Amino acid sequence: MSNLICVLNLQVIYILKVKLLIKTLVVFIALLLIAVFLFVPSYIDNQKNVVLENVSLPEVSPEALDLHQSLVIGDWHSDSLMWSRDLMKENRVGHMDIPRLQKGNVALQMFTTVTKAPSGLNYETNDANTSDDITKLALVSLWPTKTWTSLTERSLYMSARLHSLAEENPKDLAVVTSKKSLSEVIERRKTNTKLVGALLGTEGSHALDGDLNNIEVLYDNGFRMMSLHHFFDNKLGGSLHGIKGGGLTEFGREAVKQMDQLNIIIDVAHSSEKVVEDVLALTDRPLVVSHTGFYGHCASPRNIPDNLMIQIANEGGLIAVGYWDGAVCEPTLESIAKSIDYGVNLVGADHISLGSDFDGSTEVPFDTSKMIYLTQALMDVGLSDENIAKVMGGNMLRFLEENLPD
Ligand SMILES: [Zn+2]
Repeated sequence: MSNLICVLNLQVIYILKVKLLIKTLVVFIALLLIAVFLFVPSYIDNQKNVVLENVSLPEVSPEALDLHQSLVIGDWHSDSLMWSRDLMKENRVGHMDIPRLQKGNVALQMFTTVTKAPSGLNYETNDANTSDDITKLALVSLWPTKTWTSLTERSLYMSARLHSLAEENPKDLAVVTSKKSLSEVIERRKTNTKLVGALLGTEGSHALDGDLNNIEVLYDNGFRMMSLHHFFDNKLGGSLHGIKGGGLTEFGREAVKQMDQLNIIIDVAHSSEKVVEDVLALTDRPLVVSHTGFYGHCASPRNIPDNLMIQIANEGGLIAVGYWDGAVCEPTLESIAKSIDYGVNLVGADHISLGSDFDGSTEVPFDTSKMIYLTQALMDVGLSDENIAKVMGGNMLRFLEENLPD
């Protein structure tokens, strides 16, 4: 009898031990998941979007300060909406948020939405079908489940983020979607220099999920610029860093025509040379290269040949110079200024703009709060005040005034 009690006791102790083990395991997994969701997105952001240390910054003169305050500053390319940080707070991570835009005296910022990126991105050749890091980012960043499988939904999610920030902070941020809303921002900035006008663009038209109807869906959600490609070939045609380097497909031609009809600005950054040629032949509207360098200044596979840049400018287009090594070779203020100066000499000051690629997994010499240093660097390279005003944002403002829908 006592043996039986002993066996029963042992069984009870065993069951209790197993239960405790399961409980401990569940708590451990829960803590691990919380740690993943809390820290991993911020860790990746911090690793990918670097402000380089030990970069020499020019001495800012009183003349540069005066000029900088008088400028309407605009930037054609920032991927900040992809990261989890609160963009209404000044962050120590990444390149951009609204307080830092305000410190930099930035009036107009294009926010571009990255929706797919195969692992191991490079400027030579990338295969879209191998992997996608944005799916992993969507999972760890707890984006809505719809975004896990749809690239259109990823763009819509980032657009919704921008719109709700603007609704909650109307004195700091306004979404620009038309000539009218653009002129309102410029008018309001006369008494409130903290107001930032934000625009929405896609980075690659794989964001259409292969469906032309999604052009209108994105337009209805505020998108006014669409780039055709990112790092890989898509249904529209070849990427500059894809496999085939092909031109526009029939689907691509239809997409360009529909974008034209809706007055959506077409961005050919990352598109193959053949696609750029095809788009130039197909449309009468001016193009934008939202973030690039010049091959003649920096012979990088990221930059298309100068003769294409000249054609884009001749059709009224804008070429927006970036700040990272792939675009300007040396990620220094001097090299960025030299690239801009090279562009001014090549295509004329009316066709050069800024395209930082801030928060686009780039390493840059300054964040957006330090734009004053770029003004100084452009003075140092010998650009006139008039041309600096055009490059820093005057051209972007004019282009938007002419090309946004009424
Ligand atoms: Zn890019």
